[in-house]
Amino acid sequence: MANAIFQSATDAPTFGSSPRGRSLSITAFPPRSKSFSVKNPAFHQTGLNEALAEARKSLDEGGMPIGTILVHHVQGIVGRGHSQRIQSDCVIHHAEMICLQNVGRKPASFYRDCTLYTTLSPCSMCSGAIIFYGIPSVVIGDNKTIRGAEDYLKQNGIEVENMNSDECESLMKNFIDTHPDIWQEDNPQLIVTVSQNRRKSTKTHL
Ligand SMILES: [Zn+2]
Repeated sequence: MANAIFQSATDAPTFGSSPRGRSLSITAFPPRSKSFSVKNPAFHQTGLNEALAEARKSLDEGGMPIGTILVHHVQGIVGRGHSQRIQSDCVIHHAEMICLQNVGRKPASFYRDCTLYTTLSPCSMCSGAIIFYGIPSVVIGDNKTIRGAEDYLKQNGIEVENMNSDECESLMKNFIDTHPDIWQEDNPQLIVTVSQNRRKSTKTHL
């Protein structure tokens, strides 16, 4: 199953600077021990674009526009996922969880050489999975819509970089404006949080 998904992932939109449709460049992410750093933004827009492609897939399916990819620092993209909370009628099917599921079963050491890219600041459930498997770095597209458990990640030694992506934020804003009831389902306080964020520019934990 994991191999099939990996194959699918490499056939999907290309990572790195090569045109879409070509095979994944495994040199897109040098080994972490050399030049890779979550602080190096050169890699991040490419990773975020791939996560955004997943978010749009979910939207096309009638789901929430949240997408995630997992990048191994040597192997490149090893997993993709998008929110399937609506599609599969399951409250734990967040994009990050689906991505990890699609990566398949790996040894713990594998995750320590990975970075997770996700379009929306991850909630405490997904952050728990990130911490549990020791993924050392997380790149976020948008934390204005909702600020997830970023402090929880940082307290556990995980590097967190927020890209402040207007595109990620816009996808969520349009979805929430159209489907406030669905957004509110995940956490009854979210609607209040979003409106407060926009009015006061304050941030709240999920
Ligand atoms: Zn989540």
